[in-house]
Amino acid sequence: MQNVKMPIDIEPGKSAQKRSDYSGVYRLEDLKRLKETVNDSTGIVTVTLSCKQDEQGLTVLLVDAQTDVRLPCERCGSEFELHLKTSGIFTPESKKVDEDIIPSTYEIVATDEYGFVALRDLVEDELLLAIPIFPKHDENDCLISQGEMSWGDIGEDEPSKPNPFDVLKKLKSQ
Ligand SMILES: [Zn+2]
Repeated sequence: MQNVKMPIDIEPGKSAQKRSDYSGVYRLEDLKRLKETVNDSTGIVTVTLSCKQDEQGLTVLLVDAQTDVRLPCERCGSEFELHLKTSGIFTPESKKVDEDIIPSTYEIVATDEYGFVALRDLVEDELLLAIPIFPKHDENDCLISQGEMSWGDIGEDEPSKPNPFDVLKKLKSQ
């Protein structure tokens, strides 16, 4: 399979008129923020982009991106491979468009002074959002089993303590 490089920026209006479809790749090493978040710069991000106009005449960008990255597991600390996948529907910001008609399933994406969308940054943002807050192995693959984790569980509620003000209120009402 040939890996066509995706453009860094696109002109959404023109691409939508032409109903352009793109399919290509970015190199992980060019996505600086993502590269720093995952300690990996060897892979590629595969992207498909479909540009069209919807029935309301809005310019629509259908973006799909995926990649494999290596991350340290938050539970056992050893590296594991994580498949990141994201897809979204975007419409470029425009003063000519009344925001009320934009469907809630669309995300509005900024354009530069020439009306271009920074596609590579957009894809990078979406992939960063796709990374879990606590990336970890599947339970069965992890070096530390769930049983050993009881000391470090995150998200468990503290046992509820009586509120001193409630105690005070009670005393006053007596
Ligand atoms: Zn692990």
